[in-house]
Amino acid sequence: MQNDIREVLYRAEQIQEKVRELGAAVSRDYEGRNPLVICVLKGAFIFMADLAKNITVPIALDFMAVSSYGNSTRSSGEVRIVKDLDTSVEGRDVLIVEDIIDSGLTLSYLIDVLERRNALSVRVVALFDKPGRRTVDLNADYTGFVIPDAFVVGYGLDYAEKYRNLPYVGILKPEIYSS
Ligand code: 5GP
Ligand code: MG
Ligand code: MG
Repeated sequence: MQNDIREVLYRAEQIQEKVRELGAAVSRDYEGRNPLVICVLKGAFIFMADLAKNITVPIALDFMAVSSYGNSTRSSGEVRIVKDLDTSVEGRDVLIVEDIIDSGLTLSYLIDVLERRNALSVRVVALFDKPGRRTVDLNADYTGFVIPDAFVVGYGLDYAEKYRNLPYVGILKPEIYSS
């Protein structure tokens, strides 16, 4: 697995430090409230676990799975709910936890769904952001790292369901895609 990585972009310690900062910012902004924190599966599962430990206000957790990618590295532009929430968002402050924003299609779809379900507020925390690849106008309220247009894996992020368990984030060798 390690041999497939061309370059490590962020080491585990760098990610942990960033997640602590994001947790502190979220905790400050949601002081006195009780947000519903939604993990977008599967990519955000490790980020969600680490972030939740750094949020100091009471939260409820829920999980949602959407699909738009399959095994390719490009968005199909089509978003589908594969697993829906167990919780009603009506009248709740909602914080969406996302691994990475690329085209922005997934998140703009999700935000739209949650607003139509009458959430009181909808915000987004994303660990990684590739603003250069946006096809819709969308920005996270909290962003970890802004990265260039490269396909990254690790810390929850996969290529064909592999590499999610790497504790760091890196770029794959190009021959991995073509094999
Ligand atoms: P978007 O809808 O913004 O184009 O991207 C949606 C999803 O595609 C992300 O939440 C993530 O799961 C996946 N994705 C986008 N860029 C990357 C990337 O560089 N690496 C990996 N592993 N997944 C990505
Ligand atoms: Mg995702
Ligand atoms: Mg994926």
